[in-house]
Amino acid sequence: MLPKFSKDFIIHESSQCVSCGLCLPHCPTYRLLKSEADSPRGRIALMNGVVNRRIPLNARFILHMDRCLTCRACEAVCPNNVPFGELIDETRALIADQSESVVAIQKSGSRSVLERLLLTRPVRLDRLRRLFYFIQKSSWLRWLQKLSPLEKNKLFKFILQLPLVKLPLTASASVTGMRASGNRWQEIYPAEGERRGEVGLFLGCVARITDVATLNSSIYVLNRLGYTVHVPPDQTCCGALHQHSGALKQAASLAQQNKSVFSGLKVNTIISTASGCGVQLLESGVADEHTQIVDINRFLTATEGWESVEIASLPQKILVHDPCSLRNVLRDQVYPHKLIARIPGAQVVSLSGNDQCCGAAGTYFIDQPEIASRLLESKLSAAMESGARYLVTSNIGCAMHIANGLYERGIEVEVLHPVTLLARQMGLEL
Ligand code: SF4
Ligand code: SF4
Repeated sequence: MLPKFSKDFIIHESSQCVSCGLCLPHCPTYRLLKSEADSPRGRIALMNGVVNRRIPLNARFILHMDRCLTCRACEAVCPNNVPFGELIDETRALIADQSESVVAIQKSGSRSVLERLLLTRPVRLDRLRRLFYFIQKSSWLRWLQKLSPLEKNKLFKFILQLPLVKLPLTASASVTGMRASGNRWQEIYPAEGERRGEVGLFLGCVARITDVATLNSSIYVLNRLGYTVHVPPDQTCCGALHQHSGALKQAASLAQQNKSVFSGLKVNTIISTASGCGVQLLESGVADEHTQIVDINRFLTATEGWESVEIASLPQKILVHDPCSLRNVLRDQVYPHKLIARIPGAQVVSLSGNDQCCGAAGTYFIDQPEIASRLLESKLSAAMESGARYLVTSNIGCAMHIANGLYERGIEVEVLHPVTLLARQMGLEL
């Protein structure tokens, strides 16, 4: 059997670090914990030490790796182009392969079931949509929370925080903007007016339940601008959660499935609405010489046809939060600002501290709640001090993390995807 990780890769790439320290001031965990072992340079030295057998792969080593957010702010500024994102993924694969006998860091049973049964087969989430909506509307979840085994269960806490489940658009609703929905996405949403092209839409796994508003809004805006949207039903999770937890083989197999599903469409653009998924699709090889993966903000900023749509004015301050995946990897952070600027009257303002992670980072906010909430704190204060009514962000994980923090602090700022706000101003009933 082939190894799940490559020690040679870690040895080679970690050796590229010249210990200059330029990445340190950009690392959120170093800034917070003031410890070299929680800095990029320190983590790289530890990785190198473990693969060269100078130091043991023990609980302390795992702790410093687990505390990394995979925000890749270090990679974005490294003058030596050390591929930190790949290094930490490979290291986590090494840990997953070797740690069971060293230290117990297994995921909870419920989380493994979630990943195995639902995230890899997200169409099952569609079937559970109405049931989940019913459970959310009833008081069952709050009642269950009082049961002692669930009281401290991280996954259960996460489920409690999910936004209210919504339903996908029907094709007629994507044209009229009137609220009308079905249980599943349709395979094709035809363009309206002058035809400009055809695109595929990536739904994601959790987002197809928790961020339906963004997906519906993307279809609506694309249709109105003349794009037919294809939503292949057999697409699956992007694999980012697997990739960043060391399950590299599973991540590769999900990428392969997405690649074959989207290549069957004969479109040359796959639109991603969550920047975290976009990065994973891009880096796992779902795109090829015929197909590009494009973030929705970038795609809509570049497209023509805006003169044919009406956008209602919104004379409000709108904060723009930059997700790490959009900023540090895709380098597309300018596009949400440009897109929101299309709304007449909108005052577009960067959220203060946008170069630092909010702490969501996939499942980090569940696994490392203390650090995640300390990182979130500065975002909440910045949002409150700004006096804004809206905050837009292009990654569902960041949106949920920030929205929950604002809600708990009683700060009335609505958090939504830039496309959702735009679609609303264009007449979509959400
Ligand atoms: S900036 Fe790059 S080379 Fe310098 S310490 Fe950080 S990772 Fe190493
Ligand atoms: S990925 Fe982010 S948290 Fe991890 S070492 Fe780099 S800057 Fe620090």
